Amino acid sequence: MAKIGINIATGSLQQAEIIVGIDLGTTNSLVAIIHPESKLPVALKEFNSSSLVPSIVHFDALGNAIVGEEARNFLESDPANTIFSAKRLMGKSYQDLVNHASFFTYKVIDTDVDSLVKVQVGDQFYSPIDLSSLILKELKNRAEHILKTPVTKAVITVPAYFNDAQRQATRDAGKLAGLDVLRIINEPTAASLAYGMGLNKEEEKTIAVYDLGGGTFDISILKIAGGIFEVLSTNGDTYLGGDDFDRAIMQYWLQQIGIDFHAVNNDKAQLQSLRLLAEAAKKTLSTEELFSANWNDYSVSINRITLHEILQPLVKKTIDCCAKALSDAALSVLDIEAVIMVGGSTRVGLVKEMVANFFQQEPNISVNPDEVVALGAAIQADILAGNNKDFLLLDITPLSLGIETMGGLMDVLIPRNAKIPNKASRQYTTQKDGQASMRISVFQGERDLVKDNRKLAEFNFTGIPGMPAGMPKVEVGFLINADGILSVSAKELRSGVEQAIEVKPQYGLTDDEVEKMLLDSITHAKEDMTVRALVEARTEGAQILEVTEKFIAKNTALLTQQELVETASAMQNLQMALTLEDKNLIQSKIEALNEISRPFAERAMDAAVGGALKGKVI
Ligand code: ADP
Ligand code: MG
Repeated sequence: MAKIGINIATGSLQQAEIIVGIDLGTTNSLVAIIHPESKLPVALKEFNSSSLVPSIVHFDALGNAIVGEEARNFLESDPANTIFSAKRLMGKSYQDLVNHASFFTYKVIDTDVDSLVKVQVGDQFYSPIDLSSLILKELKNRAEHILKTPVTKAVITVPAYFNDAQRQATRDAGKLAGLDVLRIINEPTAASLAYGMGLNKEEEKTIAVYDLGGGTFDISILKIAGGIFEVLSTNGDTYLGGDDFDRAIMQYWLQQIGIDFHAVNNDKAQLQSLRLLAEAAKKTLSTEELFSANWNDYSVSINRITLHEILQPLVKKTIDCCAKALSDAALSVLDIEAVIMVGGSTRVGLVKEMVANFFQQEPNISVNPDEVVALGAAIQADILAGNNKDFLLLDITPLSLGIETMGGLMDVLIPRNAKIPNKASRQYTTQKDGQASMRISVFQGERDLVKDNRKLAEFNFTGIPGMPAGMPKVEVGFLINADGILSVSAKELRSGVEQAIEVKPQYGLTDDEVEKMLLDSITHAKEDMTVRALVEARTEGAQILEVTEKFIAKNTALLTQQELVETASAMQNLQMALTLEDKNLIQSKIEALNEISRPFAERAMDAAVGGALKGKVI
């Protein structure tokens, strides 16, 4: 294993290469770097404009995307083609979102509740990775424009509660945007770094990071020791933030004027102008006592005391989350040595007051709360670049490690630049009824298709007891010990059958070869992702065909003649689409088949239909 990862990554490349820090937020995103002269972190912005880029993508009739402030103007006027909060969709299935379906004003595909969500705009289907990559691409372009130099390496932040799949999705989005994502770090960790916490090896501290953004609230309790950040607990509300403050102000005004909210609800332009006024009022009252303006023929106003009265119940909810996070970490407020404020909404006076009150101490607010996460990411990037010599890097994996899944795709279990020792596991399932063995092929590399990566080992996992396809739960585990030896194990969870092998990932690879593999993955990112999307669509299509076929054979009596004919034709259309190279076409035929089969599948309530589709197939 490489001792200092970044040597491998930079190799013969320029010394003074820039690695940017990116806060990919639900509401706003931004880029920061360490200033080459002052050595201090700074958020990048064009002269006289904001460093914040709204995380919003608008598609015009031709499918061209614009990102940021301009896209925001379409939120109310063209909601079906304006995608906000894409971060909420990362690594999610429709089942995960169904309770919040009304939140999304654009079309989130809901026919197959168990597979990963996609967004439909016109006749195009976008994955959350595609959408996030458009935002990252915009950030990359901006940074290049401001810095007048190519930007290809980044550290990207994610919420502490993001799971493995959501982190991998964020990595993939970076790759698709042409960025080599050196590391994914937690937002609260980045915020602590921006306050200089964790940079001193001797330091030991337990801290709380309170992050109130536009639509989400996160509280994280961290323990910092020996330069390592450990997340003791997280809590929060994924549907609570500054947008709710704006809505509360709008409602207050409408009530004052005597207009029913629903009366304005259909007038998009009016709604937009009132929302903008409400947000302006909120921001003004963070520093002043009174806000007044005109809306149509009315004059609207609000003072700080009233604002705090109407926001009190919302802020109270965040405090309740803080109490839960503390109790989950088995700590009391007296154990918390520092409180860090993150997110634009922590500028609201009441928020600062209630947080100070709860934690019995003044929170840290000296670093700009909109920028603090990106600034911390830039500090982490600088450490990775080897510029911060006082800070030793731990051993890391130079290339991603994963296994081959259906269609020759690489499924990464341990990403590159992960700390060593490390472990990861994931569940897979079988493709055929009664399948008794499974080939586990272990690969190293960054490409989406295993054929472009390096095979490390392969073994046949045998003895899976006879079960219908999709039923076995085979857990594949990767464990890298402190010497960099990888052991791979496979275990069928229902029966307990188990097998393991040992591999030495680094064996025989020179630094130059590693570097070439990295560069290849960036140059081929776009085509790789396209192939991956196609292979995934085909796999999904083939599975649905198989399941439908079985279902029909078993339940012919339940179906009308018309249903049988329609299904056969939809199946045939899908079959045809599978032979072509168009993932959107396949998606739409899957949709069409689901549309037809859903009513009778529901009627039969056959659990096997849904059950068989869970888990990736090897
Ligand atoms: P996210 O992390 O979810 O992307 P941000 O941290 O950028 O979000 O926070 C955005 C929210 O902060 C918005 O609701 C915005 O109105 C609010 N905000 C920004 N500035 C202020 C301010 N001065 N006073 C109050 N709220 C603010
Ligand atoms: Mg944020």
